[in-house]
Amino acid sequence: MVEWHRLLWFPQAIPRQRFITWLAFRNKLSTGSRMRQWGMTQACPLCGEPNETRDHLYNTLIQYGTCSARALSPLDSMLSKLAFQATIYWIWKERNGRCHDQPRRTPMHLAHVIHKEISNKLLSLGDDAAEVNERLLRWNEVATLH
Ligand SMILES: [Zn+2]
Repeated sequence: MVEWHRLLWFPQAIPRQRFITWLAFRNKLSTGSRMRQWGMTQACPLCGEPNETRDHLYNTLIQYGTCSARALSPLDSMLSKLAFQATIYWIWKERNGRCHDQPRRTPMHLAHVIHKEISNKLLSLGDDAAEVNERLLRWNEVATLH
């Protein structure tokens, strides 16, 4: 895992998302494999895979995140890190919701939630209006939902 701390520690990160991402990197989330150590069974609530592990939930995402953060502009780098942490966070939240029989959200619904949350975050970064606008335009450009 290459320099994953760069994906965690940046000033615009959303603290609860950074925390869940930190737990995921450290493999400290309470997935099925950790529950089994405590004598409980927990299949993956998203797909039913009996052996739920951190890597089952996130392996592709973490590989992608640690390989793709290079050679981006500062703005794109920030946007990709926000999207990375938000994706880890919302997959975890959806997974926990299904453990507790809450209504299921589709991947597209989650994508919309993430899109909206990052848009709100960009609005809250109180720089001058032109800068906020530039960030929002870029976010809408790179994260178009169909
Ligand atoms: Zn699964």
